[in-house]
Amino acid sequence: MRIDGLTKTYGLMGNPVEHTLSPVIHNTLAEITQKNLVYLPFQVEKKDLQNAVRGAFSLGIQGLNVTVPHKENIMPYLYETDELARRIGAVNTLVRTAEGYKGYNTDMPGLYRAMLSDDMIVDGRKVIILGAGGVARAVAFMLYDKAEKIIILNRTLQKAEAIAAEVNDYAGKSIAGAVPLTSYTTLMNEKYLVIQTTNVGMYPHEEDALITDKNFYKNIQIGYDLIYNPKETMFMKLVREAGGQAYCGLKMLLYQGIIAFELWNGCKISKEQADMVYERLKECL
Ligand code: NAP
Repeated sequence: MRIDGLTKTYGLMGNPVEHTLSPVIHNTLAEITQKNLVYLPFQVEKKDLQNAVRGAFSLGIQGLNVTVPHKENIMPYLYETDELARRIGAVNTLVRTAEGYKGYNTDMPGLYRAMLSDDMIVDGRKVIILGAGGVARAVAFMLYDKAEKIIILNRTLQKAEAIAAEVNDYAGKSIAGAVPLTSYTTLMNEKYLVIQTTNVGMYPHEEDALITDKNFYKNIQIGYDLIYNPKETMFMKLVREAGGQAYCGLKMLLYQGIIAFELWNGCKISKEQADMVYERLKECL
């Protein structure tokens, strides 16, 4: 990598940021596409967020990713927010404009592009979303005009109900429903695509799964875990053992980064280029 007076700076704001794989994605993309840019992690405390946004703009930082815990809190400090990010209620990408940063959400289109790249057909499927956090909300909005039915299964029922109500309201039809985690056995009579959005099973708790009952997995045709560390979660193992296909969240991570890179640089990353970055990500895990 050559850094000179024309090198443009991009980065990630979050806390913590030590384990992020985003620099691998963006610095590899810069290398492949021969862009003179560098991508760095910036650890930002909650209390410093507004100053960090102002400071980044003053320093000429061309674009930023935003991660936990700032995805929602950063929105008031932006000049403008894209319609999709407003609907999801979270921003993970800032694009520099003359007046300030414009916020986007590339997590959701990233997941959709990841699914398409694995030839996964979402349209017309019955989908169970495990969890009702920020990402589950984004996934539910991604699916409202594609899935036949969306069931949000969560430990805290009220959170699942709130998302289902918002999605139904937005969709203008009753497409989403909420079920408490303890009632998962009521969902064993149909075939599903299951998207696992909870933190359960994440490193260093690889032996955990939200539902350990093997019978639940018999009806999962496709299981998609948004966790990418470990690459093979207990949820994925249980899906495979029961005869279903299972995927981890590494491709979602890849494509949310690629879409941000495309927004920043006004370019299109090819499948071959995406595959090169994916290989490097796998080596880094
Ligand atoms: P969040 O808002 O904190 O939500 C976490 C969800 O997990 C909540 O619904 C919570 O249930 C549930 N949960 C956590 N621990 C649980 C437990 N022990 N038992 C039962 N339920 C539990 O988190 P988020 O922002 O949505 O992120 C969720 C996951 O997505 C993370 O694992 C993150 O790594 C992953 N992610 C992946 C990518 C990617 O690119 N692949 C991008 C973003 C996020 P309650 O509502 O009952 O508390």
